[in-house]
Amino acid sequence: MKAIVIHKALDLRIEDRPLQTPGPGQVSIAIKRGGICGSDLHYYRHGGIGAIVLREPMVLGHEVAGEITALGAGVTSLRIGQCVAVSPSLPCGTCEFCQRGQQNHCLDMRFYGSAMRMPHVQGAFQQHLVAQASQCHVIGEGISLEEAAMAEPFAVTLHAIIRAGALANKRVVVTGCGPIGALAIVAARAHGAREIIAVDIADFTLSLAERLGADRIINSATHPAELEALKANKGTADIVIEASGNQAALRSGLEILRPRGTLVQLGLGGDVSIPQNMVVAKELEILGSFRFHEEFALAVDLINRRKVDLSPLLTAVLPFEQAEDAFRLAGDRSRAMKVQLAF
Ligand code: ZN
Repeated sequence: MKAIVIHKALDLRIEDRPLQTPGPGQVSIAIKRGGICGSDLHYYRHGGIGAIVLREPMVLGHEVAGEITALGAGVTSLRIGQCVAVSPSLPCGTCEFCQRGQQNHCLDMRFYGSAMRMPHVQGAFQQHLVAQASQCHVIGEGISLEEAAMAEPFAVTLHAIIRAGALANKRVVVTGCGPIGALAIVAARAHGAREIIAVDIADFTLSLAERLGADRIINSATHPAELEALKANKGTADIVIEASGNQAALRSGLEILRPRGTLVQLGLGGDVSIPQNMVVAKELEILGSFRFHEEFALAVDLINRRKVDLSPLLTAVLPFEQAEDAFRLAGDRSRAMKVQLAF
């Protein structure tokens, strides 16, 4: 079978990998769709993400859906032929943080397509994947594999929205409306936000943010006065979801928050400076949000019951043989949001 393997920056190869048979508690999945994530793009462009650097070839990918083709011993919860979304997260279940119910902080986490540990955890951009049955979430009748493959990034944003607390009667501002920011809009809507304002610097992403449920869009590059207006008095937003990782967006996010407002930092960037006097004087909360755990099942449930429609996010599906073209397209925010590979 074929797999999509990153060797170093800009060195992406399609290679043969041996087929594996599922062990006890495991299943085989014919992968059908795989979404390209920002972290896959980082490995492709830079050979790593900040301090995490590739030290050996690694199969990319962690946003996948496919069809069960074989069951290992003892698996009774799944059937051959079922379509599933596969959670890329495999916490150990026994460490201190797993025991506390904080599996996303597992000390022995195996997360697909991550070079954080050595040997690297191989990813899911391969024609056949062996996974734990517990990672597989059955998708409903009539739900597309494309949408199922978006359960993972949607779970990331559900985790962020749940970190933010109750949204009833709240004005939520999302800064940075790439795929994660756009999905945060859907997650905020599903959790009852009263008003959602999307802020970005690209009209293409903002138009999709609007289709995905934003009440108002602001292009902060071309209409800075509209963003300024949100800073009136001591601020007008209750919650900011910061999905750009950009220092200027973090600062303006803090400026537009009302006193005792909450900013959830979801975007990754690097070291930034924080206006500490403003944080003190307005009694602001700044929360981080990292991956997810139980939100993966919630994401699949919301998709299965058609409580959300993620389909506007998908801009292209390319055959996996054209992986390099797909990666280049996924990195072009002027014309692409979520790009998936077909296996
Ligand atoms: Zn653990």
